[in-house]
Amino acid sequence: MPITRRQFLKVFAGTGVAVTVSGSLLPEIVSALEKAAAGNPPVLWIQGAGCTGCSVSLLNTTHPTIAEVLLNIISLKFHQTVMASAGQTAYDYLWETADKNYGKYFLVTEGAIETANEGRCCLSGERSGKEVPFTDLTMYLGKGAAAVLALGQCGFGGIPGAEPNPTGVKSVRDFFKSRAVKTPVINIPGCPPHPDWIVGTIAHALLFGIPELDDDGRPKMFYGTLVHDNCPYRSYYDEKKFAKSFGEVGCRLELGCKGPESYADCWKRGWNNNVNWCVHNSLCLGCTQPGWPDNFSPFYVKTTG
Ligand code: SF4
Ligand code: SF4
Repeated sequence: MPITRRQFLKVFAGTGVAVTVSGSLLPEIVSALEKAAAGNPPVLWIQGAGCTGCSVSLLNTTHPTIAEVLLNIISLKFHQTVMASAGQTAYDYLWETADKNYGKYFLVTEGAIETANEGRCCLSGERSGKEVPFTDLTMYLGKGAAAVLALGQCGFGGIPGAEPNPTGVKSVRDFFKSRAVKTPVINIPGCPPHPDWIVGTIAHALLFGIPELDDDGRPKMFYGTLVHDNCPYRSYYDEKKFAKSFGEVGCRLELGCKGPESYADCWKRGWNNNVNWCVHNSLCLGCTQPGWPDNFSPFYVKTTG
């Protein structure tokens, strides 16, 4: 029996229990994706201004079967960091795959868009001997995509876009707006984003279409809860018992925790296959929020109430 959207949400965004699914991608979801695989549109993954941390987050934390899922089921046709092919052959293949599937494929953009100097701060490759700025690549592929998944905090501008922003970094959404590109953009922020947020959003898009988004373009199934409201230290906050140093019992607000401003489900999902998460060990830096890092700096200093 095919998996329903309700069952899918229960698995990926289930409440209460700490869950991490990318390590094993529950059999029902794998089976549903496999059944859809023949008709699945390709996923093209390109990278602008960023550190490759989103790719590492995805690949580091997953069970070996994720390679099979990404290559055979999700049909990831281009990813410059992990694909075997390289250089001009790989770059030409990217454009050919896009042209063959124009209007159908999903585009993943990892990192931010550098617009200064006519986009020449970030060159993506060459076509017919001419350099192609990442801005032009994103415009062309973005226009032909069914949807764009803007990965990482850099999809919002992030660290590359922090003041004084000499390379004119824009978020993917702002870049498209400035060029009148109408393709829907799904933001999957985080520094880096949790692998479940990446795989879960791609899987939802393939099986059921674009998931429900919040005002900042983030899937509500992953970014719909406030870290602070669900934090294991919340009772200390309510009692006004604040830790003055790490290791001391209490809420970490006065050490600079940004949990009261941060929407994400890290509190139940955990990191590194649910071994730990930021607030458990240290504090929340607010990495899923627009305006980060500028609006959340300085770190480890109380800036929120
Ligand atoms: S301020 Fe931080 S440590 Fe304190 S309750 Fe909120 S999220 Fe938890
Ligand atoms: S706890 Fe805060 S800093 Fe850590 S991943 Fe979640 S939103 Fe980002």
